[in-house]
Formats: sequence, C-alpha cells, structure tokens
Amino acid sequence: MKTIGLIGGMSWESSLHYYRLINEGVKQRLGGLHSAQLLMYSVDFAPIEQLQHVGDWDAAADVLTDAARRLEAGGADFFLIGTNTMHRVADQVSSAVGIPMLHIVDATAEVLRHDEVRRIGLLGTAFTMELDFYKDRISKQTQIDVVVPELHDRQIVHDIIYQELCLGQVDDDSREVYLAIIERMRAENIDGVILGCTEIGMLIGPAHTDLKLYDTTAIHAQMAVEMALAED
Ligand code: GLU
Repeated sequence: MKTIGLIGGMSWESSLHYYRLINEGVKQRLGGLHSAQLLMYSVDFAPIEQLQHVGDWDAAADVLTDAARRLEAGGADFFLIGTNTMHRVADQVSSAVGIPMLHIVDATAEVLRHDEVRRIGLLGTAFTMELDFYKDRISKQTQIDVVVPELHDRQIVHDIIYQELCLGQVDDDSREVYLAIIERMRAENIDGVILGCTEIGMLIGPAHTDLKLYDTTAIHAQMAVEMALAED
C-alpha cells in the first residue's frame, strides 16, 4: 500500500471527513483491521483565508508548497490538497515536489465522464465558481457545460461556507437556502450538481434532493484509496 499525503486544515472540518473516508475506503477494500497509511499536514486556515480574500495566491501557494515538501520528506508517495479552492495554486505546488498530486478536478471529472454527464451545476466558494481554474479544467477534460448560480446566490453559497460550514456549523435554514439555489440551477437542465467545496457534504446529501450530487470530498478520498492500493 502506498502512503497518502494530505494537506489538510482548509478547513479542518472537512479534513476529518477525508480521514474517515480514506480509512473506510481502505477497510472496505482490504477488510479486517486494515487502515490507510496516511500522513496529514494540517495548516492554520485563518491566514490562508486572508490571503485568498486579498488575492495573494502566490503567498498561499508558498504555504501549501511548504506543506507538500514536508509530506514528501515524511515519506508520502503522492499527495492531495484537501480543498477545491486551493487548487487555484495546485500547479505551482505540485511542480515544487517530486511526488505526484491527485487533482480534485481530475478525480471529479473522471466520475462525471463515467456517468456521461452533459451539463453540471457547480457549488463552491466564489473563487471556485467564478475563477477559470476549476470550470475550465472540467470543460477541457470532458466537454461538459458547467453551470453556476447567479451572482446573488453565489455570494450566499460562499458566505455560508466561510461563516458556517468551515466553523463546523450545520444549519437547517442554510440547507433550505442551498436546496433552493439548486432548484434554480435545475431550471438550466443540469444532470447533477458538483459539491465543489469540501464542506458542503456536511450540509446536503442524497437524502435532500433527487438530483445526482457529486461530493468532491468523497470522490477525492475514494480515488486516493484506489491510487494507494493500485499495483505499480
Ligand atoms: N474547503 C473549501 C473548498 O473546498 C473552502 C475552504 C477553502 O477556501 O479552502 O473550496
């Protein structure tokens, strides 16, 4: 089994889910007392969030690069960045280390392709929904059209992520708000919705909507398990 490196802490609420999902995945595949070989370097999210919001992505990339180097030095065979938003700097980080990175968009795109999705809704931070790094990577790999909520809805989705979910607050009213936003996207003939923020799965899941949900945390963790257990 290969050793998984996880850059966590963005937020640590979602890192908990990564840790559980990766271990459950290994247990499911190997049985018994098997669990993942995993190193996590968990950053302090507060300064990262400030750098995001002032647009200093290079400084944020430096923090993640330092984390990736620590994982490499600690013996990780490959690594994951446990947040969608920080994939804005994924190329910078991965080019600074000698171990491969499992990109969250590539993992998600593989599942979308498998499901023959044509048009998909995307929920995430404003950075993920509005900057090119995420949508373009999906479209280039899959020809899938990516639909995002309108501006006011994007702001609400973003605020609930930073002001509630990243602080561990899961609120019924916010769930209703998210579901209403999903319903407005449904009018654009989407085949499903990418939960493109690693905390959104804490708020909504298959029990709340009949639209197919693609939870990036679960997909990323599952692909990490497959990569860790793959034969060379
Ligand atoms: N975990 C979230 C994401 O997947 C947001 C926190 C962050 O900005 O990294 O985008």
